[in-house]
This record gives sequence, structure tokens and C-alpha cells, in this order.
Amino acid sequence: MSTRPPIGTRYRINWADGVSGGVTVVPTGGTVPDDEVNVMHDGDGSIVTVGVGRLGNPETVTIVAATLRTAAEWFSGDDRDTMREVADQTEANWDSICPVCEEVDCDEDCPLEHLRAAVARGELRRRA
Ligand SMILES: [Zn+2]
Repeated sequence: MSTRPPIGTRYRINWADGVSGGVTVVPTGGTVPDDEVNVMHDGDGSIVTVGVGRLGNPETVTIVAATLRTAAEWFSGDDRDTMREVADQTEANWDSICPVCEEVDCDEDCPLEHLRAAVARGELRRRA
């Protein structure tokens, strides 16, 4: 079974030359191994095949976690630690208990509700 994320999912890849670039998952041909996927580069639109393991978290998740991590620095002591913990959990653990509302199925007003529901439906793939 393919472990490819759905077409259209956005990722940010750190390439070997130290450059980070945005990519979007595009259709992958039948001759490509199941653990590889075609992605299109932002900007020039070139398409490359990469290992699924290179993708990391979807860009949306990375942005949410980075925002929480930056906001954490506005606080100090236990408050800052709590914010950092939520940031870490947002990247690593958001398919079990929600780091924000602390429910398995998010409360209706939780900002992560739709992201976590997309993961549960298999529309977004969390970092392996
Ligand atoms: Zn939630």
C-alpha cells in the first residue's frame, strides 16, 4: 500500500545544499516505487521524485508549531514551558490527544479541529 500523501499537500523540504523550498505533491507515475512521490517545486514548477520520508510534516503543521514556538518566547517560566510543550505536541502527537483542547475529538471551537480531522480521514499525513 502506498504511503504517499494526497495530491496538493504542501511541504517544505530542506535540500542537501542547505536550501529550504516549498513543494506541492503532484500525481506520481505507476513506475515510481510506493515509498517515493512526485513533488513540484514552488517557483520554477519543476517536478522531482523524493522519498516519502523526506517530506516531514505538512507545511500547515510546521507553520502552526513555529508560530506557537515563537509566541512562547513572549512568556517566561512555566507559561513559556507550557507553550513550548504545546508547540512540540503539535508537530509530534496531534493524532492522539489534541495539544490545544486536550480532547481526542476536538471541541468545536478548537483551532486545530479541521487539521486533526483531516489527519484522521487520511487527507494529511503526519511525520512518520
Ligand atoms: Zn483540539
